[in-house]
Amino acid sequence: MLSKPVQDAMNEQIKNEMYSAYLYLSMAAHFESTNLPGFAHWMKIQATEEVKHAMKFFEYINERGGKVTLKAIDQPTTDFKAPLDIFKMAHKHEQKVTSMIHKLYELSLKENDYPSQVMLQWFIKEQVEEEKSAEGIVEQLKMAGDSSSALLMADRQFAARTAS
Ligand code: MG
Repeated sequence: MLSKPVQDAMNEQIKNEMYSAYLYLSMAAHFESTNLPGFAHWMKIQATEEVKHAMKFFEYINERGGKVTLKAIDQPTTDFKAPLDIFKMAHKHEQKVTSMIHKLYELSLKENDYPSQVMLQWFIKEQVEEEKSAEGIVEQLKMAGDSSSALLMADRQFAARTAS
């Protein structure tokens, strides 16, 4: 059975992953409204990945005989600037999520919760990928600069993203 501190922290993380989904969906809505459907598509896929992350915690809590408690999700920002700024924001957000996952892992160590450590190792690896993909796009958009043709090319490229 899960210890109460681990169960509480994982319930909190369900909310954090759902907030991530909400934030990326808000970014998708912005891209839709600014005629960048490929960027919007990328963000919609990202949002579905975040829901999958939340569901991993949901299923795991139940698997360990715990109880899922859903919490209120904050309203994400709707105040967005250029695509470069948005991906900088996404990268910063993923860095924040990484530190949350690391804190959860530290808690599982403190609680001698070996199964949770194994489960969280998947997330530790996943966060390396999440940070890398957001940072890669930041670098790409920096190179694109003010070129609208580079932006349109990126839009076409992001339209091809498929769910993992
Ligand atoms: Mg996530």
